Amino acid sequence: MALDKSSLLDGKRILVTGVTHDTSIGFGIARFAQEQGATVLISNFGRALRLTERIAKRLPETPPVLELDVTDESHLAALPAKVAEHLGEGATLDGVVHSIAYGNPETLLGGKFLDGPWDDVAQAVQVSAYSLKALAGACRPMMTGGGSVVGLTFDATVAWPAYDWMGVAKAALESTARYLARDLGPDRIRVNLVSAGPLRTLAAKAIPGFEELESLWDTRAPLGWDQTDTEPTARAVCALLSDLFPATSGEIVHVDGGFHAMGA
Ligand code: NAP
Repeated sequence: MALDKSSLLDGKRILVTGVTHDTSIGFGIARFAQEQGATVLISNFGRALRLTERIAKRLPETPPVLELDVTDESHLAALPAKVAEHLGEGATLDGVVHSIAYGNPETLLGGKFLDGPWDDVAQAVQVSAYSLKALAGACRPMMTGGGSVVGLTFDATVAWPAYDWMGVAKAALESTARYLARDLGPDRIRVNLVSAGPLRTLAAKAIPGFEELESLWDTRAPLGWDQTDTEPTARAVCALLSDLFPATSGEIVHVDGGFHAMGA
């Protein structure tokens, strides 16, 4: 369904993290946000940064690419200066997208729940959950006019095949979003999550047994579900970034073809 060009996010400045490939949910969000009039910056970290710089050229407008490892305090501290480099001194942000997760696929995912070692679990929780607080905290000084923080989860209210410790990390992310909604509300910063169905991204393909999980959607999603299409998820994220939800915070919006509401 076509929306008016340049309407939903006109004039908004949005940082989208976690863009590695054009399959990344973050890429779909950056594309739709640009189509809706936003000025977008994207980020990634480490070795994949060069890949992100190439992929950025596939967006409608090539955005600035920032280096941001959410576990690196120096990167977080430098974020306002990096944003200012591209948007000008004292630049503000209206929206921040947390599209980041990592859990060691060899030790934590694919049926290894009972053996997952703490060091790897700690890393998964830091990168996938604590980082929402770290990122929001780093961006807060730039969100002087209020704004919207949106993250991505995979329904953490139940146990899934293969998802194992990443499910625990997502439960921590969902709780972190609620506490952030409480503490950033007075600054008029909303914090919400989109709970997406399975999408064939690099992160998903790294999960041993992911096919078993995604095949559940073939029969149980009443609206059907296209595992290669990030746009429905991107649209929901952009709606939450927009002014359409001014009184919504601490919420989880499901974009899963209706799967979560079905008992079988
Ligand atoms: P993706 O393309 O692999 O994106 C995950 C991103 O996280 C990558 O860009 C990755 O960078 C980045 N990342 C990992 N560690 C980081 C760190 N320390 N600092 C900064 N960035 C880091 O996969 P995706 O599926 O789009 O994932 C995006 C979000 O959607 C995740 O939160 C994921 O759990 C969530 N989600 C995914 C699905 C699904 O089925 N795909 C469903 C529901 C929710 P590198 O590539 O360099 O490692």
